[in-house]
Amino acid sequence: MKRIDTDILISGAGPSGLMLGCQLSLHGVEFMIIEKRTHRKEYSGALVIHPASLEIFARLNILDKVLQAATLVDSINFNWQNKKFLHFSTHKSVNDITTYPLIILLEQYLLEEILIDYLSNKDISTKNDFELIDAYESDNFITAHVVKHKYNSITITCRYLIGADGKDSIVRHLFKIPTKNRYDKQSVFIMDFMGGIDSNPHEMNFIFNDSGSFGIFPLKNGSVRLDGHVKDLKLKSNETKSENIIQHLPSGLSIERVKWFSVFTCSYVLANNFRSGNCFLIGDAAHSHNPVGGQGMNSGFQDAANLGWKLAFVLKGIAHDSILNTYTTERKPVVKTIMDKSTFFFNLVTQKTKLHSFFWLRTIPLLVPVFSKIVDNTKVRNYMLNSVSQLWIRYNGPLIVPNRNANGLSPGKLYKTADLPVDFRQSVNFKLIIFGDLLIHPYYWTNGSISVDVIEIGNTRTASDIFKRLRIKSSCFILLRPDNHIAIFGEENDLHKIKPYFKQLKREQNTI
Ligand SMILES: Cc1cc2nc3c(=O)[nH]c(=O)nc-3n(C[C@H](O)[C@H](O)[C@H](O)COP(=O)(O)OP(=O)(O)OC[C@H]3O[C@@H](n4cnc5c(N)ncnc54)[C@H](O)[C@@H]3O)c2cc1C
Repeated sequence: MKRIDTDILISGAGPSGLMLGCQLSLHGVEFMIIEKRTHRKEYSGALVIHPASLEIFARLNILDKVLQAATLVDSINFNWQNKKFLHFSTHKSVNDITTYPLIILLEQYLLEEILIDYLSNKDISTKNDFELIDAYESDNFITAHVVKHKYNSITITCRYLIGADGKDSIVRHLFKIPTKNRYDKQSVFIMDFMGGIDSNPHEMNFIFNDSGSFGIFPLKNGSVRLDGHVKDLKLKSNETKSENIIQHLPSGLSIERVKWFSVFTCSYVLANNFRSGNCFLIGDAAHSHNPVGGQGMNSGFQDAANLGWKLAFVLKGIAHDSILNTYTTERKPVVKTIMDKSTFFFNLVTQKTKLHSFFWLRTIPLLVPVFSKIVDNTKVRNYMLNSVSQLWIRYNGPLIVPNRNANGLSPGKLYKTADLPVDFRQSVNFKLIIFGDLLIHPYYWTNGSISVDVIEIGNTRTASDIFKRLRIKSSCFILLRPDNHIAIFGEENDLHKIKPYFKQLKREQNTI
């Protein structure tokens, strides 16, 4: 019999790989994470974090730590030349969208440190300076060849291999997973500097002017992130220096010291399938695109939350391996929507054609007063804020039972952690939440191997607040998956759907 070194080998300890490690450790599954770098980067790619990720941090019980380290954004401004034309207060009506802050800013390397701490508290460490160079599958097992500390070759055998190895993923190449690619023609610069800005330190500003478009993000400890694109400058990754762009920057910035400067040419890479045999891709290895809207790392966290519990259930023998196919069917359409939207906006602000110049210089100024009026409407503002929050995500497929009467509890959507009684926020089990007077006999939810937490909300004040907000009738139930997405919504006559749902987890799923 083949010797297995670990059930799961995660290649890459960026945010996605670390988050998958955290998810697996919640479920008590054995895994190993390798990372080719010797040291962690001390500068940041990502920094914008959305509420759907905060929901995941709450499940890991690290939310307070993250919020303490981060800048909480209280407003977002869009400026045309020197004039503010759109202003969003992230407090106003935000409770309809999320109970947590809407947008926070935290440098990627600081967030990675929090995830590493979480793992090391469970005696799990990443193996640095371990580079995956080859891997293949035979007899349902994966053999991975890894170079350790530059000189030693070692072999690691595992059941599942996870490519969390970024946009140039070697795992994706080794398993010949085809991709859809588009190369954005424009480049953007990123600059982290010590200094100041002449606005509120909790305000994010986007500035569009004759020189180009810029985003200004205040960070903690006197640090500021500036990114953007300069119309009259061809940005080149190995030639352009921070000095070349300083003269083009908007006024109101005092730059004392540039900590990090880089130029990125963004490309759109979307894997056709996020699974090949026993190998899975997560994060940028599966999908990478430009940084507009700050969605990439947040999407990697959602990949990890989606795949983590499914892997755990399969390894524990309580679900059939084929539920792992639902990882692609659930995640790929969501990720594609995010990528297409951000590519549209990226092209809108960076393209240099005459039509675009006409749009920005002649049309936008005329539309500005109309825009501000429309956005002042609460519904429009909430729609726009919700669309960046990733809380709109809704899965479809065999692990979701559709129900048109569900209103705010639509099957497939994420149920907010803050609505759960505290004891259940970190639960990794399925959860049956009963609202109102419904009495559910244990017969409906007891089954051989899958643990279910039963939470009776009853007719309490909390319940009536939830009913009002989610537009639901008072007596109903929802079954939440371990990742807190709603699997079933129902009333009394839907109770019979629960038992077959658990049974089908054990059966082969025909999803792709
Ligand atoms: C300038 C910029 C700003 C951004 N801003 C945001 C933002 O505000 N919000 C947001 O959500 N996203 C943002 N993103 C996107 C975000 O940075 C990425 O989506 C995120 O880093 C992806 O994480 P990952 O773990 O999937 O991949 P990566 O961060 O690329 O990590 C992959 C890891 O795998 C390791 N690795 C690679 N090959 C091997 C190998 N063969 N063996 C072992 N290890 C290997 C690498 O060393 C690396 O540590 C931004 C991106 C850029 C470039």
